[in-house]
Amino acid sequence: MKQDVIKFDNHIYQIDVFMENKPGRMSCYYIDSSNPILIEVGPSKSFPYLISSLESLGINQVNRSAITHLHLDHVGGIGHLVEKFKDHFVYIHELGLKHLPNPEKLWKAVSEVYTEDWLSTNWGEIKPTPLNNIHSLKDKELIDLGNGRKLEAIYGPGHAKHHYTFYDAYSKTLFMGDTLGLIYPHGDFVQPNLPPPDFNKELLFNTLDKLYTLDLEYLALAHFGIHKNPYELIVNAKESIELWIDFVTKLPNLSIDVAAESLQTWLSSNYRILGVDEDTIKNYLDNGNLQMQIQGIKNFLENT
Ligand SMILES: [Zn+2]
Repeated sequence: MKQDVIKFDNHIYQIDVFMENKPGRMSCYYIDSSNPILIEVGPSKSFPYLISSLESLGINQVNRSAITHLHLDHVGGIGHLVEKFKDHFVYIHELGLKHLPNPEKLWKAVSEVYTEDWLSTNWGEIKPTPLNNIHSLKDKELIDLGNGRKLEAIYGPGHAKHHYTFYDAYSKTLFMGDTLGLIYPHGDFVQPNLPPPDFNKELLFNTLDKLYTLDLEYLALAHFGIHKNPYELIVNAKESIELWIDFVTKLPNLSIDVAAESLQTWLSSNYRILGVDEDTIKNYLDNGNLQMQIQGIKNFLENT
């Protein structure tokens, strides 16, 4: 088993796929039950890391994956996976049926946020997935993991309108995608992740409140890793989102860049007051896409 793979109880593996060639940015998960499934595939450029990690576990065939949403850091590599394993089946929101066979529109929409150059260099280009390899999810659908174990797909908009979380009642683990936000290594607090065009506080809070009612022991985040204290983290996420929206609401009418700098200065001082060490603060702020967060919040405020 490679160093960047962590084995948890109940046959769950956390796989660091070195997004943007950095550790601690993107976790995929593999539930090695009698009917196994991969959760998240990561961006195209991470595909070699994913495959070599699976191979280090002796897994040479991946028949199924469940993807939380259609953002390219989660789904970008799916065309590569389907090309490698011809009968592979991907479980995803129904918009996947429209976008994955012809990913150009998805690519263009994401380029508008990140730029095409940045995307090609950092996440890599997305290959098409044939329609026959895609299964469109329904809310509360149960995916069979074998021996009576099921993975429940729970529709949860707010971060993205095409977002599902996946609940494994057997291990009491909820695979969150980006619904909670970001927890980077060595931090134990949630930093909001509120991108345009879909971030919507009411929808997101409804989703988080619904997830709060589940019987939970672990939250498995895409960015990054498996965490205990699920209920505290959900409360923490909601509080931070409220504070961020309040902060952005009170900003004068600044350019996105200047507003992001103000947000960064405010966060640095908040994190220092909480006693967070400088390396952890840097990790959160450097990888927090603060310009995108400002755009997401402003977009939500202007459209509600
Ligand atoms: Zn993400």
